[in-house]
Order: sequence, then structure tokens, then C-alpha cells
Amino acid sequence: RLAVVGSVNHDVSVLLARRPGTGETVFGRRVLTAVGGKGANQARAAAWAGARPLLLARVGEDHGPAMVEELASCGVETAGVAHDPSVPSGTAVITVTDDGENAVIVVPGANAELTPQEVLEGLRGRLGAGSVVLAQAEVPTDAIGAAARAARDSGARFVLNLAPVVPLDPEVIALADPLVVNQSEAAALLGDADDGAPPTDAGALLGRARSVVLTLGAGGAAVATAQEAWTVASPRVPVVDTTGAGDAFTGVLAARLAEGCPLRRAVDDATLAGAAAVQVRGAALPPPSAETRR
Ligand code: ADP
Repeated sequence: RLAVVGSVNHDVSVLLARRPGTGETVFGRRVLTAVGGKGANQARAAAWAGARPLLLARVGEDHGPAMVEELASCGVETAGVAHDPSVPSGTAVITVTDDGENAVIVVPGANAELTPQEVLEGLRGRLGAGSVVLAQAEVPTDAIGAAARAARDSGARFVLNLAPVVPLDPEVIALADPLVVNQSEAAALLGDADDGAPPTDAGALLGRARSVVLTLGAGGAAVATAQEAWTVASPRVPVVDTTGAGDAFTGVLAARLAEGCPLRRAVDDATLAGAAAVQVRGAALPPPSAETRR
């Protein structure tokens, strides 16, 4: 069993030649909408890998019902998603210029109202040894803390994607097995100790969590546990859009751990999923192949 505690956003992407300056108006080429947010993206990636993740999240009544329906159609269990009539859904406004670069504004909306009580309620009776609870940091820190402690108290494994880096109780981070971060998040956590060079050593963060997975973009991933450390290379693939690579990686990692795979095997499959995600536009993944859905 995999439970994902995280955000759901209504993503509005505008494709345009260049962004307007202050007070300026420009024409965009197209508007695309999608269900996004790290919680939704990672739950969808886990479902893509064959898991049936339980998503605990909060949405508004505006886009909420449609977003939940779409996630359910992807294989995500959505009964634990709360519908809040008093706030708008989380929204991300994304501009994508022709060179593929994006700039993003996130308005948390309903995600900011997710409570520790509803996380505990949603997880009650659903976890046991071998279960995995996955959280990211686009929801309130006390909700993340509740998820971590519920995992610990039921013998489940807690996987934390500390994205973005928020001030989280070190005791909560210490429960992470693994802590998953990309290089900029690792740099923020380490306080730029390494003259600003992007960190490549997962072991540098091992004192903070039970195990650490550091994603290295096209460079793959570095892993450190109390027993050993290793790296996994990424396959060389044509890049269309790197949005969502980290979400695909983390969702598949958690799905494999929940199946009982060892960390080594889970990271190998996560690396393949990250490489698959960069070959398609947006945070989506290509249709599952026989190799990815087992
Ligand atoms: P984020 O998306 O959070 O910035 P990364 O850029 O580190 O995180 O990407 C996460 C994972 O996605 C990497 O560990 C790797 O497996 C895969 N990945 C990312 N970029 C590429 C790429 N250009 N080629 C192949 N795999 C990639």
C-alpha cells in the first residue's frame, strides 16, 4: 500500500514568444490546462508504475471535482481528497517560452488548508509494515509531520521529497527513508557549503535522514544509506521538456518500495521513469510499456 500526502493544482500554462514586462501586454500562442501539483504528479507516476496510490489532499469546489475525476481515471484512489467549498483550488500559472524555459507562480489555495487531522484520519487503518507514505512540501509542515509520525507508528516507510525546501522539523526529516532532493534543494539544505558548486554527494546529507537519494538531472542519481553509497547513470535520451522529471522519479521510487523492491532496484526504475518524463511535454509520462508496468 502506498499513500501520497501532497498538493493538487490546476495548472494553467501559456505558451508564448516572450514574457511581458511590467505594464506591458503581449499575445500568447496557446493556453493549456492540466492537473498538476507535486502530490498529484507523484501519485499519477506511481499509478503509471502499477501502484494504486491513496492520495490525501485538499481541493476547492472550482476545479476540484474535475481534477479528482481525472486523477481517478489514471488509477489514483481519490476518496481521501477533501473538497473545500470555502477556498479556491491550488493554482499554478506557468509561462513557457519558445526556448522551453518556464516561469511558475503557485497560489497554494486549498493545499494550504490540508490539516494534520485529516491526514491522520485518511491514513488510519490503512498502513502496516511494508506500506509506504510519500510526502512533498507543497502542503503545510504540520500535515507532513503527521504523515511522517503516522508512518513511523504503524511500521510503514516514510519517503520525503523535500520540494520545495521549507523549514521542517529536523525530527521529521530524520524519519525519511529516503529523503529525495534535487541538486538545488540539496544546496539549499547544505547552505552552499561547496563554493556554490551543485552538490553531487548524497552522503553529505546522510546525517539528516535514514537514507538519501540525490537526483542529478541528466546525470542520474546518487544514493547513500547507512551501509553503502552508489550512483545510477541516466540513459541518454532526447529532451523535450524537463518539467516533472523529479515527480516521475519520486512517484515511481515510492511505488517500487511499496511493492517490496529493495532501494537499489527502486532507484533504477525511478531513473528510467525520470528519463521517460523528459521525452514528453508537461509533467506527463508516455504510455506505460510492458517494461514499466509490471
Ligand atoms: P527535478 O525535476 O526535481 O529538477 P532532476 O532534474 O534531478 O529533478 O531530475 C530527476 C530525475 O529525472 C533524474 O534523477 C533523472 O533520472 C531524470 N532526468 C532528469 N533530466 C534528465 C535528462 N536530461 N535525461 C535523462 N534523465 C533525466
